[in-house]
Amino acid sequence: MRVAVVGAGMAGLSAALDLREAGVDVVVLEGADRVGGKLALGDVGGVRVDLGAEAMLARRPEAVDLARRVGLGEDLTHPETVAAAVWTHGAIRPLPPTVMGVPSDLDALQRSGIVTQRPVGRRLDMPQQDVSVAEFLVPRVGQDVVDRLVEPLLGGVYAGHADRLSLEAAAAQVAALGADPLAAAARATDAPTRTDPVFAGIVGGVGRLPQAVVDAGGLDVRVGATVRSVARDADGWEVHHGPTTDVSTERVDAVVLATPAPATARLLGDVAPQAAFALAGVEYASMAIVTLLLDGPVPSEASGFLVPPVDGTTIKGATFSSVKWGWLAERLDGRSIVRASIGRAGQSTILLGSDESVVDLAVADLRAALGSLPGVVASHVQRWGGGLPQYEVGHTALVETVDRCVAGVPGLEVCGAAYRGIGIPAVIASGQEAALRTLQDAALGG
Ligand SMILES: Cc1cc2nc3c(=O)[nH]c(=O)nc-3n(C[C@H](O)[C@H](O)[C@H](O)COP(=O)(O)OP(=O)(O)OC[C@H]3O[C@@H](n4cnc5c(N)ncnc54)[C@H](O)[C@@H]3O)c2cc1C
Repeated sequence: MRVAVVGAGMAGLSAALDLREAGVDVVVLEGADRVGGKLALGDVGGVRVDLGAEAMLARRPEAVDLARRVGLGEDLTHPETVAAAVWTHGAIRPLPPTVMGVPSDLDALQRSGIVTQRPVGRRLDMPQQDVSVAEFLVPRVGQDVVDRLVEPLLGGVYAGHADRLSLEAAAAQVAALGADPLAAAARATDAPTRTDPVFAGIVGGVGRLPQAVVDAGGLDVRVGATVRSVARDADGWEVHHGPTTDVSTERVDAVVLATPAPATARLLGDVAPQAAFALAGVEYASMAIVTLLLDGPVPSEASGFLVPPVDGTTIKGATFSSVKWGWLAERLDGRSIVRASIGRAGQSTILLGSDESVVDLAVADLRAALGSLPGVVASHVQRWGGGLPQYEVGHTALVETVDRCVAGVPGLEVCGAAYRGIGIPAVIASGQEAALRTLQDAALGG
């Protein structure tokens, strides 16, 4: 059997590795000139760092297991600190324990000064259908908690907004708290706490993972091979790729589309029009990561901070990478690396500015937040147009529609961040599931 995997992000590469290891002849077609998608390494002032994703949830097995499987086990590492903070009311304040922004220790919240009044919880019946995170939480925990805790956390994960994101699809932990989330979150802290690390990284950056997967699987990856269309006939599939002036055709028995929703929607137009229509409705947030090499230490012990959108700053958060990752600090000789992230869903105008202006705005915010900032030795702006899918209200139903339509087309699978989780372990899982379904389909003679 020969399979084409379209897209060499972590979802596509994971699917390709599993197919390859099952003895399938796989070709991976990637539009960009490199593998990895949202995982990317680059040089900032001669220091190699992650310019995209930089940490992997370790409490789901898929990412750390894959890293071990492709020979990076020895290089798995964990953050030196996970002490997070919120920059609000004129200071960087320690983030008290929360369940996705719902505070679980009201005394710690009050001490932090993040909200001005102690929140009062209300028990209200659970909604009968999907609602936005804000619609669920504002009446139950108050606007201030949503503005200054929930919004920054959702901004950190999805670059999205509480009044658009789906409770069911984007904040399942909050929905699981039930009718009185504040009381339930307080009970959650009484439960025995886990001591295993929440996050993992890779010495040298998580951006090493994609190439390690390619190498371990001996994968046949074609870069610069944008897939233009896919077509099904009685013998299988034709996949057309390459520059519009010089299109090549690949004949395969099955296709795995591991592309972001807009590209997948375009490719499915003829073969699964209802799925294409649904996917065309998935919005994406564009963002930029500004990485700074500074000539001294960052005056903070936190691993970074988040910013509530109500405070109107340019940056939505910052990671003090050399405080967070020991391997990076060791390479810096007293200097430091800071990443500021800019851009939320629906607010991309700021990203239209020059790199210089984006860096200036980030530096000004960091200086205001920290009081002072060591000198900037080098800077880098990585733009992530269409970086993060927004799981808006109704997303779960949308994904079910896509699944139903795609399942009706033999030899077709979709996977990636657009569906059931945007984090690295979730997209790896979705790639692995797509590979498994492809193999099962083939075994059934589909
Ligand atoms: C700035 C940023 C920081 C993040 N930080 C973290 C983090 O720290 N931890 C975490 O867990 N997650 C993080 N995420 C989220 C996570 O990295 C992504 O959701 C995940 O990597 C997406 O993987 P994917 O394979 O689904 O898609 P992608 O990585 O988007 O890969 C899709 C690939 O398809 C290719 N493609 C598109 N169209 C075509 C076509 N027509 N033909 C061929 N190829 C095509 C693209 O070029 C791309 O390489 C971050 C995301 C961003 C943007």
